[in-house]
Amino acid sequence: MSGENSTSGGAFDTRAIHAGQKPDPETGAVMTPIYASSTFAQDAPGDHRGYEYSRTGNPTRAALEANLASLEGGAHGRAFASGMAAINTVLNLLESGDHVVVGADVYGGTHRLFTQVYEEYGLAFEFVDTTDLNAVFDAVTPATELVWIETPTNPLLRVVDIADVAAVAHSHDALLAVDNTFATPALQRPLEHGADIVAHSLTKYLGGHSDVVGGALITDDADLDERLGFYQNSVGATPDPFACFLVLRGTKTLPLRMERHSENARKLATWLEEHPGVERVYYPGLESHGQHDVAATQMDDYGGMVSFEFDGSLEATRTLVASTEIITLAESLGGVESLIEHPATMTHAAIPREERLAAGVTDELIRLSVGLEDSRDLRADLQRAFDAVTE
Ligand code: PLP
Repeated sequence: MSGENSTSGGAFDTRAIHAGQKPDPETGAVMTPIYASSTFAQDAPGDHRGYEYSRTGNPTRAALEANLASLEGGAHGRAFASGMAAINTVLNLLESGDHVVVGADVYGGTHRLFTQVYEEYGLAFEFVDTTDLNAVFDAVTPATELVWIETPTNPLLRVVDIADVAAVAHSHDALLAVDNTFATPALQRPLEHGADIVAHSLTKYLGGHSDVVGGALITDDADLDERLGFYQNSVGATPDPFACFLVLRGTKTLPLRMERHSENARKLATWLEEHPGVERVYYPGLESHGQHDVAATQMDDYGGMVSFEFDGSLEATRTLVASTEIITLAESLGGVESLIEHPATMTHAAIPREERLAAGVTDELIRLSVGLEDSRDLRADLQRAFDAVTE
C-alpha cells in the first residue's frame, strides 16, 4: 500500500506535523507506532486490512509516504532504504536504448549509478549544464525518456529553472525528475513547477538529525506511482519501520529547521563573500549568485548549503577543512549540526578529475552544511580554520 495523500489538510507547517498520521485507533497513541512486524494476519486468504508483508507495505512506512506526498503536494509517495535506492527505482522505469539528460554537477553517487551501473545496461546519459536551457534543448533526442536535475545542485548550488526544463522535457514526451534533497519541500515544491517525479535522500534535511538513511519518490501521477510501486516491491530496497519513524519525527520540525538553516547560511555566506581568504562563494540567496532571480521565483528561502572556493592550494584546502572544531569534517548534510567537506576528495571523488573540473568542482572548493548552532560560533570556528592555514 503506497502512501496515498488523503490526510493533507491545512497549511504546510500543520501538514508537516499531521499529514499521514492520526492517533492510533486501538490505543490512542498520538505518535505513529513503529510497526515492527514483517507479516500481517489475514481473516481469510487474501482478505487482509491493507497490509500483508512489510516489504510490500507497512503502516509506519505508509504514514511516512503519505506525509512526504502531502509536503511535496503530490498524491503519492514511496519510501526507500536510501536516496540511491529511490533514484535507482526511477531508472528501473527505463529500457535499454533509452537516453537520459542529466545535470552536470549532480551528486557523485547519482553520477556513479548512471555511468557505472546503468550504462552497462545500455542506457545512455548526457551530462549538461541544466542552468543553460539551450544546452538542455540541444541534448534532448527522440530517445530521451528522462531528464534528471538537482536544484540547487550539489556542490555548486546552481539553480535550475524547473518550469523551463519541464517544458523542454515534456515537449519530447520525456519525464522530468527533480532531486529536491537540498531545498526540501519546505522551500521548493518541484511538482508545482511541472516536475513528474520528486526524489529525496531522506538521510538529509527530512530526517534532519544525521541518524537515519532513507529515500523517497513523490509523484502526482497514479500510473507512474503504480510502476514505481512495482519496482519498489520487486527490488525490495524498502526502509524498515524504525527508519520511517525517525524520518516522520524529523519532518514535524522541517519548516522550523529550514528557516534557521537558511538564516545561518545566509549570514555565513555574506561573511565569506567579504573574507580575504575566499575566492568565490556559492549561495543562491546572495545577489551575486548567477541564478539568484530564478531562485527567488521558485524557492521560498535559500537553504542551508553554502560552498566556497578557498584562495589557496589543494593541500591548504585539505588542512582548512580539517581545522574546524565545532563544524565536523564529514560527508552528508542536512543535520542539526554543521558539517564541512572537500568535494574533490570526498563526496565527488567518484567523478573523473577532468570531468569534475569541467563541471566547476575545483580542488579548492569547500562545501558547508550549515547547521542550527549559533551563527557567531560557526563564524568564529571557520575563522579559526582560516587562521590555521595562514599561520
Ligand atoms: N541526492 C543528493 C542530492 C545527495 O546529496 C545524496 C547523498 O548525499 C543522495 C541523493 C543519495 O542519498 P543517500 O545517501 O540517502 O543514498
